[in-house]
Formats: sequence, structure tokens, C-alpha cells
Amino acid sequence: MATIKAVRGTRDLLPPDTTLWNHVEASARSVFARYGFGEIRTPLFEVTELFARSVGEETDIVSKEMYTWEDRGRAESDRGQSLTLRPENTAGVVRAYIEHGMADSGMIEKLFYIGPQFRRERPQRGRYRQFWQIGAEVLGPPWSGSDSALRDAEVLEMLATLLDELGVKGWHLALNSVGSAEDRQRYSDALREALAPVKHLMCEDNQRRAETNPLRVLDSKDPNDQGIIDGLPKIADFLGEDSRAHFEQVKAALDVCGVPYTVEPRLVRGLDYYTRTTFEFTVPDGNGLGTQNALLGGGRYDGLSEMLGGPRAPGIGFAIGEDRLILTLQAQATEQEPKKLDAFIAPMGVAQNPGALKLAQELRRAGLTVEVGDGNFRLKKSFEAADKLARRMVIFGEDEASSGLLTVKDFSAGEQEKIPREELAAALKG
Ligand code: AMP
Repeated sequence: MATIKAVRGTRDLLPPDTTLWNHVEASARSVFARYGFGEIRTPLFEVTELFARSVGEETDIVSKEMYTWEDRGRAESDRGQSLTLRPENTAGVVRAYIEHGMADSGMIEKLFYIGPQFRRERPQRGRYRQFWQIGAEVLGPPWSGSDSALRDAEVLEMLATLLDELGVKGWHLALNSVGSAEDRQRYSDALREALAPVKHLMCEDNQRRAETNPLRVLDSKDPNDQGIIDGLPKIADFLGEDSRAHFEQVKAALDVCGVPYTVEPRLVRGLDYYTRTTFEFTVPDGNGLGTQNALLGGGRYDGLSEMLGGPRAPGIGFAIGEDRLILTLQAQATEQEPKKLDAFIAPMGVAQNPGALKLAQELRRAGLTVEVGDGNFRLKKSFEAADKLARRMVIFGEDEASSGLLTVKDFSAGEQEKIPREELAAALKG
């Protein structure tokens, strides 16, 4: 019979890789806590309109990558509704922010999330249809200081701290400002105008974007179109006084904190909700990501809450591609010996199985990592399994059970000794 496989673009995360996943998540939680963030968990699916309104109808995500279905009502009278597996988490967080009246506190909210997102993209290394993001959002009413450049710099400095603590080598921060909604609109119009006479020379995707979402043309990697793109107007020339001052303040704070960055005028990011600061962290080629070298991205979204019918609540956030972070760490790691268990208990004969399990229970409750063999195993097989898995083997035969003196073999020292049961846990820890 044909076997059933995981769906294309999805994958199983298995041990020992999951140890690294847990380490990354624990580090993120630890860093976020030090910066005053609390965890938010939003549903994996939302009404489709949430993403259409925030991410934008014309983006690749909404126009072709979402997993959307018509959810039937259960009763005749129930109307169906269009639902979508979340392709990103900012929209869900802001929806929850509005729904729970979080703005009423008048304070800044700092929220983080860790979880899967879904996009129907063409799968390749570092690009999946179910992928994980670790992200955070800082938002609040304007009088809480949520639109201050200090918040942008704090978020970027936090990311630098997290990547450094994880030991990511060679990361690069690209920074830009896309201005206010008005600046962006003026720039978008100028781009459309500049593209009109040349767009027929560009690839099909860019021809479409030139009409529907000209900012997206700047993201294009198409090698033939780069010459045209380099000659297009630059966003920096369209920033109003406020946006310009805000961007200068972000950069000044990063300079004081010693966070390195380069300004990349083409970094506009495709999502409709971004305003002012946008950023992306990348790693150099050859660090496990191939062409998908963007580790994380984010930016400010001062009008998003209002786009979703909420109060004015400027904010800034980011999403780290956890899959890509893991691939990078794995590519940069020097080969490490897998961590061995403290002990392998080898029962001598099936009759000793219950007693061996009882001994394992004692040791595990004392905090040791322990595996139990099986009384069916011949001694040679127990030795081989124990040597592979654990630092020491505890032989549990009839004599040991009755005398309370256990035979312990230490593989690295190549020694064997007898240890009283009461002292066993302490001896195995050493
Ligand atoms: P975005 O939400 O598009 O700004 O993406 C933020 C980050 O999520 C990117 O920098 C990637 O690291 C990661 N990411 C986005 N799409 C995928 C995907 N299909 N597979 C794996 N990681 C992704």
C-alpha cells in the first residue's frame, strides 16, 4: 500500500534537531522577558478579511499564497464565512489588541509570539508552506510614546542582543524609512510615473506590480530588471520633515548603542501596513540559507490599528523566520557530540524488569536522565546500547536487587565499581 507522506512544503521536526529549536525559543523568551514583553497566543486561523485589510489585497501573500476556505455554517440558518490560516501574526495581534480594548490602559503593550504561519509558496531550502515565526509587537496610543524613535531603536537593539546571545555570526542589519502613509503615497505615485515608459521591458511580475503595487518592484530579484530599478526615484527624497527626523533619531540611538546597520534605500517591504522604519536582518551566503538569506524582517505600522477599525495605536514589530535561524545556527555550528544520558540501566533477565524500572523511577525523580534496557537483551547488546546512549551503565541483576550494591560501568574511564543504592544518584551525577 502506498505510504502517506507529509504534505509538500511541510515537515516534521525531529530530535535531536528539536533540542536546538527549544534552545532558540528559550533564549528568545529570556531576552523578551528582560525587555518587558509578555506572550500572546492568537488563533491559527482568522477571518480572511483581516489579512485582506491589513497585509493588503495586492500583495503576493494575499493575492496568491493564503490557505483560504469557505467555512460552512453548521445549521441551515448559519451563514458560512471565509477563513484563512494565518500567513503572518501581526494582523492577529493587532486584532486582539483592539478586541480586548488594550489601548484603554493608556500604556505601551509589548507582546511576543512563537508559532507556525502558513503560505502557499514554492517550497525550497529555507522556504516552507508551514514555517515558524518568533515575533514581537510594541504598540499603544500615541500619548504612551509608542511612535517614538526610541521604541524602534529598542526593538532593533533587542534583536541584535538576541542574535548575539544565540551566537549567530555575521548578521547584517539593513535599515530604511518608507515615510508616513502620505510620503509613501507620493512615492508610490512617482514610482508609477517613472515605471510607465519602461515597464514593458520588465518581467511579467514587475509589469503587474508597476500597476498594482509599484513599491513591490523594488523587492524584485529579477536580474534583467535591476538596471531599471537602480534608476528609479529613491524614497529618501520623498520623506516629509517628521519622517526624516524620526529616521535620524532611530539611527542616532543605534549608533550610541553600538548596533551596526546600513541604510538600504530599496528596502520597502511588500506589506501594505508598513510606515516609517523598515528593516531586515540577513546572514551572508554560505550560511545554510541559499538564496533565502533574510533571517527576519519588520517595521513600523502606525496606521494598522485604524485600518482594522481600532483606535489610533502606532506600533512597531518584527518576525524572525525560526526555520531559517535554525538552518543558520546548524550551518555555523562546529560539530558537537550529542549529549549523553546519565545512565543506562541493564536488567539481567526479564524477572528484573520491574525492579529496574523502579530504580529508573528513583533516579529520574532525583533529576537524572536515564534509559532502561530490557531483561531480554543479551549482555553484549545491553553494553552496545548503553555505550551509545549513556555515560554509564548500571547492571541490575538478582544479586544487585537483593544486596542493594549496584555494579556501575563508567565508559569514559573504562572502570567498573560497586555503589550502594543510596549513593547511586549522587555518584551518577558526577
Ligand atoms: P515576513 O512576514 O514576510 O516579513 O517574513 C519575516 C521572516 O519570516 C522572513 O525574514 C523569513 O525569515 C521568514 N519567512 C517568511 N516566509 C517564509 C517561508 N515561506 N518559509 C520560511 N520562512 C519564512
